[in-house]
Amino acid sequence: MCGIIGVENNENAAVLASAGMVTLQHRGEESAGITISGKEKMKTFTAMGLVSKIFNEDILLNKLSGTAAIGHVRYTTSAKSSLTNAQPFQMACIHGNIAVAHNGNITNFPKIKHELLKKGAIFNHTSDTEILLHLIAMSKGNLADIVASSMCKLEGAFSIVILRSKLLIGARDEHGFRPLVLGKIDNSYIIASESAAIEVIGGTYIRDIKPGEVILIENGKIQKSFLYKQSKKQNTCIFEQVYFSRPDSVMFGQTVKEARVKMGQFLALQMKDIKADIVMPVPDTGYFAALGFARASNILFENGFVRNHYVGRSFIKPSQNLRDVTARLKLRPIKEVVSGKEIILIDDSIVRGTTSKRLINLLKEYGVKKVHFAVSCPPVIGSCYYGIDTPDKEDLIAANNSVEKIRKYLEVDSLTFLSLENLVKSCSYGDKKDDVFCKSCFTGKYFTKISKNTYKEGC
Ligand code: SF4
Repeated sequence: MCGIIGVENNENAAVLASAGMVTLQHRGEESAGITISGKEKMKTFTAMGLVSKIFNEDILLNKLSGTAAIGHVRYTTSAKSSLTNAQPFQMACIHGNIAVAHNGNITNFPKIKHELLKKGAIFNHTSDTEILLHLIAMSKGNLADIVASSMCKLEGAFSIVILRSKLLIGARDEHGFRPLVLGKIDNSYIIASESAAIEVIGGTYIRDIKPGEVILIENGKIQKSFLYKQSKKQNTCIFEQVYFSRPDSVMFGQTVKEARVKMGQFLALQMKDIKADIVMPVPDTGYFAALGFARASNILFENGFVRNHYVGRSFIKPSQNLRDVTARLKLRPIKEVVSGKEIILIDDSIVRGTTSKRLINLLKEYGVKKVHFAVSCPPVIGSCYYGIDTPDKEDLIAANNSVEKIRKYLEVDSLTFLSLENLVKSCSYGDKKDDVFCKSCFTGKYFTKISKNTYKEGC
């Protein structure tokens, strides 16, 4: 949910930020925004929709001139989708004009908001991100200390970029739930949610921002970098590699694509007794796991679906009828590929189970003989409180049903989930081992205190 970018010390800051945001578009399609500064007075431009539709040449070159920029693409449920909550958020305070863009979910947002309201703070948005601006505005001292002390008050998941004039600040929560990376292009530093956003604009990935790190950059130089808080354990979201991040982004020393290929190879090992005519992915995120499965099993890889890329999330309305129409518009089986075949179908996850069921029914309509359904992560048994939009526990099919019951509901011939052990092995690389990942939605054990009232709508 949500993607962020920051570019400093560059005459083309807004153009580079917008290109990076197009690369991060998969992290949020509802709204996008850029804050620019460094030449004239800081200004923010936000709108609903896709980056490429919003930021045309006129806006980028004539209205957003400056040398430092931060950008944001927002994901949210349709009910919460509004221009008011489009980021970055900008405010004028005692420390000057400051803007912030955020990816994650601040779990103690309601409590802090209540305290701030009692002190007289006025809120313009309903999103959790705004509390950070208020905490900064109400603190005294130098900006590095203020950001650090403000972040200390927050709980949950937050990767953040902040802009004040030419100064770009990047920060990541102590657990490192959401990714945030540092890169360089010529004499400019870039901070982004994923390495692909840096490389696409011609930059070079340098390193990850560390969990608990605050980094201040100005005029092409790192002014200061320090840990505002050190956690005993890094808990980076393993779901980023299963589903959310781009395949060409690097995480823990390997591309996400490579991790997904390994997930497929491990699935093939777990399913070595199952024979089939073809292996096929549910597009797009099942693609590389299916490739890995095919390589490891020597079963033919086939693309048996045509995906319509023109059906956006905004098309999905909450009525059952329209969901069915949308599913058919989005993915259509190719009859000659699937008809009369025994297939291994690979998808990244099963959440509610309704989408999988619709797809399997569709394959049956197109004459598939047998379906062995393989999922490249373990059963999702818990909701996410750290920035991924998952339904409440009662709506998660695996939280309330055994694997056999899910198999029967889906009406498939076999159902296999990648084991947690094999998922961790797929995502680990080099010296990074098991304990750097958050796996809470697969284990039901959380790293922070979770209650019925814990905020989980984040960005
Ligand atoms: S609970 Fe699941 S989706 Fe959420 S951060 Fe942890 S691994 Fe990722």
